[in-house]
Amino acid sequence: MTVADKKETAMQRPSLPVIALIGTGGTIAATADTRTQLSNYTVTEPVNALLHAVPQISAVASIRTQQAFNVDSREITSTMLLRLARSVRRTLAQPDIDGVVITHGTDTLEETAYFLSLVVRSEKPVVLVGAMRPASAISADGPLNLLNAVLVAASPGARGLGVVVTLNDEIHAARYVSKTNTTRVDAFSSGQQGALGTIHNGIVQFDQLPVRGWPLAVSPEEGFDLTGLRQLPRVDILYDHQDAGRHLYEASIKAGVQGMVVAACGNGGLTPRASLGLRMAAKHGIVCVRASRTGSGMVSCAPDDSRYNWVAANSLNPQKARLLLMLSLTRTTDCRTIQAWFDHR
Ligand code: ASP
Repeated sequence: MTVADKKETAMQRPSLPVIALIGTGGTIAATADTRTQLSNYTVTEPVNALLHAVPQISAVASIRTQQAFNVDSREITSTMLLRLARSVRRTLAQPDIDGVVITHGTDTLEETAYFLSLVVRSEKPVVLVGAMRPASAISADGPLNLLNAVLVAASPGARGLGVVVTLNDEIHAARYVSKTNTTRVDAFSSGQQGALGTIHNGIVQFDQLPVRGWPLAVSPEEGFDLTGLRQLPRVDILYDHQDAGRHLYEASIKAGVQGMVVAACGNGGLTPRASLGLRMAAKHGIVCVRASRTGSGMVSCAPDDSRYNWVAANSLNPQKARLLLMLSLTRTTDCRTIQAWFDHR
């Protein structure tokens, strides 16, 4: 092939989508001593190494890598979340970037995904991806998960869907997805709402679209603005159970939290001392959200909510309710306004 031929081929070939690949760590970037060791591993691999392990990605997209941090996702703090969100926003604002893929530990992946879905306003796809087996394992799931994530980010069908999560050949909306298993590769589920779609043999297929969460968060008046925000308000999660004490509530109040989320029983039902704890918190001006420890379904508003200024979590699990409460508290402490956000996000 002559130089002229080569030039012509390059000109004729439609240019590949440009995807930013942001590494944050997690099992997908971890290695263990032996190939059969599937726990007790360490995050060792930079995002460039993950990319080089999957050369097939170069046929799908042109990739620009960034290393946000490289940690187990249990180490991610609110400050790191804010930093990541700003970097995602900056990246998406670049006209030549078509989408973002973020590699992430699975333990708190749903938290980062939901947080980003509340603060990132872009038509461009943002895809979070992780792995349940370390990069060093036999049948590591990270490489195919990463290829699939890039396929989703490069897919026109993913535009306008907000933040999604891909693992185990499935595409999930950030609003609904949760880690529901400790070790299996099919650890992620959107429960009653189901997955948005699948990826198989390089084909991205969407079967349903999310109707809540992101579409409401895009309006500038309704979205959460990060301008000037250096840290997020402190919000604790407390787990309710039979014979619960009030001391955890007292400790949180003493620690100066601005919000509390209770992983309450059933439809947000409180045991007597949890109820007492939340009433004490309300007296200190702490905004309290009743979520459920059941793992699915919605918590409906109850008469005590308006009496004590509590908020019902709707169908957000406690860890996601915490993030929405933190962002809500940057704008207001008015429980009615916050309840409306919980009902729509
Ligand atoms: N502990 C790991 C993390 O969340 C688990 C994983 O990535 O699967 O970073």
